[in-house]
Parts: sequence; C-alpha cells; structure tokens
Amino acid sequence: MCLEPAPPPPSRLTRRGVLAGAAALAGTTAALSTAGPAAARPTDQAHQAHQAAPYGDLLIEGGTLLDPVTGEVTEDAVVVIRSGKVDRAGPRRSGAVPAGLPRLDAGGQWVLPGLVDAHIHLATVGEAREAVIKGATSARSGSTTFYQDIAVRELARRLPVQAPRLRAAGVFVTPDMGDSVLADPDLAPLAALKDGVRSAEALRRVVDVNVARGADVIKTRVNERAGLPDQDPLSQVYSYEQLAEVVTAARRGGKGVLCHSYSEQGCHDAVRAGIRSLEHGVFVGERTLHEMQSRGTYFTPTLAAIAGLAESSDPVLAERGRTYLPVLKDAVRAAHEVGVPLVAGTDSSGGEVTPIGHEVELMHAAGLSPLDAIRTATTNAARLLGLSGTVGRLAPGCAGDVLVVGADPLSDVSALSRPVRVVRAGRIC
Ligand SMILES: [Zn+2]
Repeated sequence: MCLEPAPPPPSRLTRRGVLAGAAALAGTTAALSTAGPAAARPTDQAHQAHQAAPYGDLLIEGGTLLDPVTGEVTEDAVVVIRSGKVDRAGPRRSGAVPAGLPRLDAGGQWVLPGLVDAHIHLATVGEAREAVIKGATSARSGSTTFYQDIAVRELARRLPVQAPRLRAAGVFVTPDMGDSVLADPDLAPLAALKDGVRSAEALRRVVDVNVARGADVIKTRVNERAGLPDQDPLSQVYSYEQLAEVVTAARRGGKGVLCHSYSEQGCHDAVRAGIRSLEHGVFVGERTLHEMQSRGTYFTPTLAAIAGLAESSDPVLAERGRTYLPVLKDAVRAAHEVGVPLVAGTDSSGGEVTPIGHEVELMHAAGLSPLDAIRTATTNAARLLGLSGTVGRLAPGCAGDVLVVGADPLSDVSALSRPVRVVRAGRIC
C-alpha cells in the first residue's frame, strides 16, 4: 500500500541488490546475471549485444503482434529494433527482414509493447530490476522516502535493462513526513512543526523542494492509509484548500499531482482541486466520476493492492480488503462507462513487486474488455505519463520495449502476468 513514512527495513537491502547497484555504478553488466529468470536467458548472439551498448539492436520475428491502439492483430510479425528504438513493426514481407541483427524467435507467442505501471514505489535496485523482468518497462513512482526514485530514473537512462523508464515523484507531500524530513536539508525544519505539513507555506516548501530535486510529478494524499490497521482510510487529512495549494505549487513547477484517496468527499475535493490522477479511489461516487470525465482526470484504482489487503494476516486489513475490493471493482466499471481514463498501477512497495499484468487481469475482472484492460497499461498510461509516441505501442520511433507472452492476451489476459521475454530498449532482459 501507499508509502509508509518509514524507510524500508534493512533486510530489503539484499546482497543481490547491493551487488547489482555496485555493478551498475561500475558500468558493468555483471548485475544482469544476478536477477534474471533462467527462462529469460538471451541467446549468445543477443547476449553479446548486451555487452556492447545499453541500447540494443534486435529482430523479433514470427510472433503475433498486438497493437493496443487499434486492436489490430498481425500474425507472423516482424519487429525491428535499432539502437533501442522500433524501426519497423508489422507483417513479414519477403526480402524485407534485415540480416545481421541479434534475433529473437517469437514463433507461437504474442508480442506487444512493454507495459506501464503507473503507481509503484521503487526504492532499491532490486525492485527496479524486478519490475522490468515482470513486464513494467515504464512506470510512474508513487514516491519514495529519500528520493531513490529520482536515482532509479537515472539508472534507467544509463542501464535500461535494470529499471523501468520512470516518472519520479520524490517524497510524499503528507502531514507526517516521518524520516523524509531527512531527505533534504531544506525539509529538516519541517520536523519542528507541531501539526506537521499543513500550512500553505509548509505545503509549498515540500512541493518546491521536490521540484528543485527533479521530481516529474507530485504525490499527495487526501485520506489516511488503508494498509495500516489503526488508520481510518475514510478520515480526511487535507481540505480542498490545502489540496489546491499543493496543485497550484506543483503547476508553478510544471508538474501534475497524483493523490492517494478513499472517501467520496476526499476524492471530490482532490478532483476539484485539480489533481491529474486519483489513486485507489475506492469510494469515488458518480458526481466525482462525472467531474473527472469533464476535467480529464485519470483514475489509478490499484486493484492489486486492495486485493492484496484481503490476503493480509491482519484480520482488520483482511476484512477491509474483502469489503473494499467489490466496491472498487464497481467504481472501475462505473468510471469506464462514464469515460474516465483508467490506468494500471500495482502500488508495489517494500520489496514485493506485483506483475503489472496482474493489474490488467483485475481490470478485466472488473468489467473491461481484454483490449480496454490492456490499454490501461499501455496507451492510457502512456498519455498520463506524457509518453504517447514513445510508449504503449510498437511503431517506428517508439521505444524498443517489448513483452512476449505465451498465449493470446485477448482471450487469456493472465498471460500478461507471466512474460516469456521482456525486451527493454532493444535488449533482452
Ligand atoms: Zn502508493
């Protein structure tokens, strides 16, 4: 669930993660062999391409290509990637398949663009790598305790196989910032505030420091957490006026706001305040959905996180999850009918990475067609992240990020949770 104001426990800093980080800093690719599943080993030829450059050339041939934009399906397709970007994607034409490129045989499999996880907390090298190999080749952060996500974004630029292309959120704009006041000397004075980050000045300070640190988006909240048994997720922590202050400060820095929310009143206040996307939103009502539709506000329901609550060993959380999940599924269906753009996000955090394909499955289970569910993790999410034309489609000029799955995702959406191959910037992960 959403960011705790505490750092991840030391046990999350696994030896594997530390070694992978050291390798990344040293500019080697030794870390590649530490985290990938045996099933995803590249061919020798493709592996040599790994060693040569972070952005690869690759020929993917023989698979069935799905275009999430049009829903068009092309059998026996060819995807040509050069220097990490798609050069060509479409039907094989005799003589047109270039020679000399590392080759990935996708015969009998389905090929689609890498998926987007629009709500994930990536605080370690290990988590970033796991997100990629589970299918999220792009992502938007839901904040981290110490700006780790901003560094993950840089890691992704230098070693794309190690991390999803990331929109970073920096630290959470929340009343009690916990250890995040130590993330920057300009935040430390906030620890002296008796009531926490609530005044217009304090709210602006956290937004401004985030923007100065290079955050791409601003994360805030209107309600308490669902993932802690002693918190009431329907209790509101910021008013409309406070949320409007956050949105105004973020816009001054050219950033959009994503807002953690549960209660209908909280959702309504956040949407009216001008947030870019509503996160969780379990009890969002009809009036707010119509407001979202007219404003173009996105909805990231994080169904996987709420479903995960139902599995909790804590009886309060388990009951909360069981109660919330059907309500959220109804909200997702209602949002889709009203025309609110839905995006997929797992809300993975704390060392556990849920495959983004699982969220797509839950979108389908909530009532979306398989193609519309796939769009929540491709075209819709790309638009929210400002990455249309780069992400969510395999067309000339788009990122060479590819998911290869073992079954037709239009008839078995769950295939997306078990990628056979993930390609990031033209390199097999
Ligand atoms: Zn979150």
